[in-house]
Amino acid sequence: MTVHFPFDNTYARLGAVFHRRTVPTPVAAPHLVKLNRPLAEELGLDADVLDNPEGAEILAGNRLPLGAEPIAAAYAGHQFGNFVPQLGDGRAILLGEVVDRHGGRRDIQLKGAGPTAFSRSGDGRAALGPVLREYLVSEAMAALGIPTTRALAAVTTGEPVYRETPLPGAVLTRVASSHVRIGTFQFFAARGDDAAVARLADHVIERHYPEAAGAPNPYSALLEGVCARQATLVARWMQIGFVHGVMNTDNMSIAGETIDYGPCAFLDAYDPTTVFSSIDRNGRYAYGNQPGIANWNLVRLAECLLLHLDPDENKAIEVAQDVLAGFANVFNTAYVDGFRAKIGLQTPHTDDAALIGDLLGRMAEQKADFTVTFRSLGKAAESEQADETMRALFADPTAYDGWAARWRARLATEPREPGERRVAMDAVNPAIIPRNHFVEEALAAAMAGDLAPFERLNEALASPFEDRAQFADYAGLPPAPAAGYRTFCGT
Ligand code: AMP
Ligand code: MG
Repeated sequence: MTVHFPFDNTYARLGAVFHRRTVPTPVAAPHLVKLNRPLAEELGLDADVLDNPEGAEILAGNRLPLGAEPIAAAYAGHQFGNFVPQLGDGRAILLGEVVDRHGGRRDIQLKGAGPTAFSRSGDGRAALGPVLREYLVSEAMAALGIPTTRALAAVTTGEPVYRETPLPGAVLTRVASSHVRIGTFQFFAARGDDAAVARLADHVIERHYPEAAGAPNPYSALLEGVCARQATLVARWMQIGFVHGVMNTDNMSIAGETIDYGPCAFLDAYDPTTVFSSIDRNGRYAYGNQPGIANWNLVRLAECLLLHLDPDENKAIEVAQDVLAGFANVFNTAYVDGFRAKIGLQTPHTDDAALIGDLLGRMAEQKADFTVTFRSLGKAAESEQADETMRALFADPTAYDGWAARWRARLATEPREPGERRVAMDAVNPAIIPRNHFVEEALAAAMAGDLAPFERLNEALASPFEDRAQFADYAGLPPAPAAGYRTFCGT
């Protein structure tokens, strides 16, 4: 039986300037390490058929499914603030698009499928560790309810990749609602190709922002839509302690999904200056800088669209500034709404932002663990007996007491029953996140040939809001302060 992908490839049809036709380079020995069966079903693919040697050949790029039109997309980008006019898919090949069971269009891309016209000095390949890391973290994000690219499969290639040492090679099948980035617009704007910018904008409007098509100025409506989605996305990251780590403009999806799981990691102790990426020496992409950076990136997108916002340059700048000014509002509202729910409040009040800020300030000073603090707060909301658990999370327990008095006075103004409040809080404060030390442990075991820890962690992360006795270890505090934890770009 052959695997049927119901392809309908709109990006491939956009025109030659947008991509280069590129066939994946076959590998020695494709072996399926992990298949995401529920996602396969959602995409209208037969998981049973994918889960066999022919499926592994397709997912490794050795065999092209019928209807695939493999391409490497062109894009540019600001990397750590510096503009690079040509980046592009250097190791990722888009097989095509399918329309999923819910009618959503999804890209199917092989990451690590061999060199392309955009590989520069790279080998076009990926190592097993970063592939499994992206699998775990992107699927965890999806289970946490955060817009993200997905992982359909991981295969090993039977070939080494050479980094500092030889490592097992692998290919990740990434699924995204599209792979258009801010950097895609920059590629054409930097070349003065206005027609391509307009074509790309029209494609994105049709695909992601259909409501913008009917607006008086569709391109300003598009910019507004992207601002809103990215502002909301970054607010969600902040609410689960996620540090993306490499928010270059080529890593910011126009659709507003989290993309590019290279050096990302989660906070243990709450500290807004936290940086994990080994290459982020100035802390540009620190946890607390993420909203400002998203805004900076959106200014770069606005620059690309300027010519299309108004024929008069001054008016175009005004339009852009108006739209960009909306970012802060959307972000602040989403940020406060999310944290309000995390501390168990239902009805908005003008003092909420201050109450949230007070808690976070105390957590930062007292090195309270981000995830465990919020999860435990649900118990404290239900019963003051849990206050001892809360106090123990703060280096100086009285720092909690000072805030808790304020918080309880505020809770008393709300009608919700304590038990009901706890349930609502547990639904937004995860018990389990991909803790750095568990992720590292799972990857190390997988590299040594033991996939059991990866499978177990992946299973626990699929239900992050549930307290399950068999996964209690994942919900606990990290063993020792993980200060100095470093991540490396997923090359
Ligand atoms: P990233 O840091 O993963 O966002 O990648 C930045 C750029 O480097 C993109 O254009 C990637 O396609 C390219 N790149 C990263 N790793 C490799 C590799 N191993 N081979 C070729 N290109 C790569
Ligand atoms: Mg990237």
